[in-house]
Amino acid sequence: MDLDYTGPNADRPRWRENAPFFALHAVAIGGAIMVGWSWAAFAWFAGSYAVRMFAITGGLHRYFSHRTFKTGRVFQFVLAFLAMSTAQQGPLWWAAHHRRHHKESDTPNDLHSPRQRGFYWSHVGWILSSRHRATDYAKIKDFAKYPELVFLNRHDMAFVVGYGALTMLVGGPIGFVWGFMMSIVVTWHATFCINSLAHVLGRRRYDTSDDSRNNGVLALLTFGEGWHNNHHHYQRSARQGFFWWEVDLTYYVLKGLEALHVVRDVAGVPRHVRDAVMPAPGSDLLSSTNKVPVITGRLP
Ligand SMILES: [Zn+2]
Ligand SMILES: [Zn+2]
Repeated sequence: MDLDYTGPNADRPRWRENAPFFALHAVAIGGAIMVGWSWAAFAWFAGSYAVRMFAITGGLHRYFSHRTFKTGRVFQFVLAFLAMSTAQQGPLWWAAHHRRHHKESDTPNDLHSPRQRGFYWSHVGWILSSRHRATDYAKIKDFAKYPELVFLNRHDMAFVVGYGALTMLVGGPIGFVWGFMMSIVVTWHATFCINSLAHVLGRRRYDTSDDSRNNGVLALLTFGEGWHNNHHHYQRSARQGFFWWEVDLTYYVLKGLEALHVVRDVAGVPRHVRDAVMPAPGSDLLSSTNKVPVITGRLP
C-alpha cells in the first residue's frame, strides 16, 4: 500500500487502514459480554497477558531497544516471536522507534510527547497516523543483521492472526476472547500508557531533560516499566525499579532466566547513578537559610 509517510496528511489517522484496531476493541468488549467471566477466562487472560507483556518489556524494550542483557540467537528469536502476537508491529520497528524516543524525549522531534502534542497523540495518535509506519533499519542495524528478525518484522500481522487462530483452536470462544482479543487490547493500552501517562503522572526522582515520571500503578500493570523516570535517567540497566520496594517483575524474571543460563550479563544500576537524585524542593532555600546567623531571641 502506498503510504504517505511524510506529506502534509501524514499525521491524520488512517481510519480504513486502522479498522482492525477499532474492530478489535469492539469485538473484545462484545465477546467478553457474550462468553462471560469464568476461571477459564481468567486463566486465558492472565496467562496470555503475562507472557506477552514480558515479551514486550523484557524483549522489545530491555533487550532489542536497550540491550541491557545478553542472550543467544534462539531465545532472542523467542522473545521477538512472542512479542509479535501483541500486534505492536515488528520487533525492529518497535525498537528503532523507541531508540528515537530516548534521543529526542519531549523535544519537538519526539514521536509521542504529551508535552508537545497532548495525551491523545502520545497515547495512540502517533500509531494511527502514517508518519511513523516505516521501519528505519539504520537505527537498528545491530539486530537488522539477523534475517529471521527481519522476516518477523516484515510479516508481523501473520503472527498475530496465527496466535488468534491458536487460541480459538485450543481454548474455543473463551480462549479466543480472553486470551487473544481482550488481552491484546489491555496490553496495547498498558504499553501506550508508558508513552503518555508515564510522562505526565507520577514523581520525578531524577532531573532528566524530559518529563518522565515514576508511577507505581503503571509499574505493576506493565511489569516494571512505570519506573520511567528511573529508566530515562539510566537506560543501560535491565532493572527499572531501582529500590527493593519498586516492584519490577520483568527484572525478577530476567534474574531467574539468568540463573537458568538462558540470558546473561543482566545489567544493574551503579550505586552512584542510583543515588544521583535531584535536590528536594526548597532544599536550596533551606540550606541557605541555615547559613544565615539566627538572631531571633537574642534581643538584649
Ligand atoms: Zn526505553
Ligand atoms: Zn519515555
